[in-house]
Amino acid sequence: DVKSLKRATELAKFFIGTIIKEGDLVVDATMGNGNDTLFLAQTVGKEGSVISFDIQDLAILNTKKLLDKNNINNSKLIQDGHENIDRYISNEICGAMFNLGYLPKGDRNIVTKPETTIVAIDKCLKLLKRNGIITIVIYYGHLGGEDEKEKIIHYVEKLDENKFHVLKVDYINQTKEPPILITIIKK
Ligand code: SAM
Repeated sequence: DVKSLKRATELAKFFIGTIIKEGDLVVDATMGNGNDTLFLAQTVGKEGSVISFDIQDLAILNTKKLLDKNNINNSKLIQDGHENIDRYISNEICGAMFNLGYLPKGDRNIVTKPETTIVAIDKCLKLLKRNGIITIVIYYGHLGGEDEKEKIIHYVEKLDENKFHVLKVDYINQTKEPPILITIIKK
């Protein structure tokens, strides 16, 4: 519905939701308060699984609460940086979601960083199956956010066109640093 088109985070769910199915293995690279983990868990169902990462205990706590409230038990919550994803996953993944910036209602000084984010995206692209998708919502209103945005856009622009479809969605009439959505589909 129209809600899916109004916000970058909803748009990300809309795009990944067209590709991932029940039974799939998927990743939430930035768990935060767990909204994307919940969405992914409900989409892949009991036969599927979600592996979610965050460096903060508060994110793990909030996500666990949200999942418990919704009777979800197909998700593994890992307190580690997404740049270490290959320590936890060796199977092919069908999709991954990144939602960059700081934890909403949390410590605004703990933010994703371009170096580690790019390592994580790169590792996810290697684990991604054919026709799998990665969504990246870039918030950049905070300190260091602009630098991360530029580095990520530079990185995804350079991905081999023979291997990936890369899409960038901008809310072009918004004045206050509107989030940007990037989607990458493996050919
Ligand atoms: N998708 C989340 C939600 O639905 O609430 C919001 C994510 S929030 C914008 C970004 C999160 O990335 C923060 O919770 C932060 O702790 C986390 N983060 C920062 N660096 C990270 C890293 N290296 N690996 C994994 N998560 C990281």
